[in-house]
Amino acid sequence: MDVATDPSQIRLGDRPLIVCDIDEVVLEFLTPLTDFLRSHEYDLLPRSFRLHGNIVSRHDGSEMDREQFKVFHDLFFETQDLWQKPAERAVETLHALSADADIVFLTAMPPRHQGVRRKLLDRFDLHFDMIASEEPKGPIVARLHARRGLPVAFIDDIQRNLLSVADHVPECLLLNLIANADFKPFAPPPAGAIKPASDWTHAEALLREHFAVTLRT
Ligand SMILES: [Mg+2]
Repeated sequence: MDVATDPSQIRLGDRPLIVCDIDEVVLEFLTPLTDFLRSHEYDLLPRSFRLHGNIVSRHDGSEMDREQFKVFHDLFFETQDLWQKPAERAVETLHALSADADIVFLTAMPPRHQGVRRKLLDRFDLHFDMIASEEPKGPIVARLHARRGLPVAFIDDIQRNLLSVADHVPECLLLNLIANADFKPFAPPPAGAIKPASDWTHAEALLREHFAVTLRT
């Protein structure tokens, strides 16, 4: 499938839709980011569910400031193929789900890095369409779903993104999945209709249940 940046370029079948974030959901993010930072003499400490304030120098413990982090974050995305790998059971579960649903990746990464990411995903046989956008996710999912009378689900590690989709696509199943075990305990408790998925096996069960119930009514 092609690299797509625009929801209107994506053709959906007459079946359920799963829109899925990538970092910390399909690909590990916090673990490889920690490895990357350590290679630059920094560390990422699981002290709260955020990056800022938790990246410290391994020499003197000083915190990395936002401007420095922007540079490192960009370098990480540029070289992500050296660091990132799929989250546990992500690949086989997505393949199993793709027999019954369309899968579209929606990643909040700067679009200029999408070539590297596309190659990385393809290397793991994750040939699903991808949208790379830094716009709020709710309006993008709404444009993809286009109020079809078919089930729709959205999976992300960040509550803000899930709430954005809740605002724009109220019928959407919202799953909160966080691959990294060290940071998960610090994540905010799921708000509103957001359901926590403990791992990909749990996510698959919740998705299949939602599709079965929605298609029956
Ligand atoms: Mg993410």
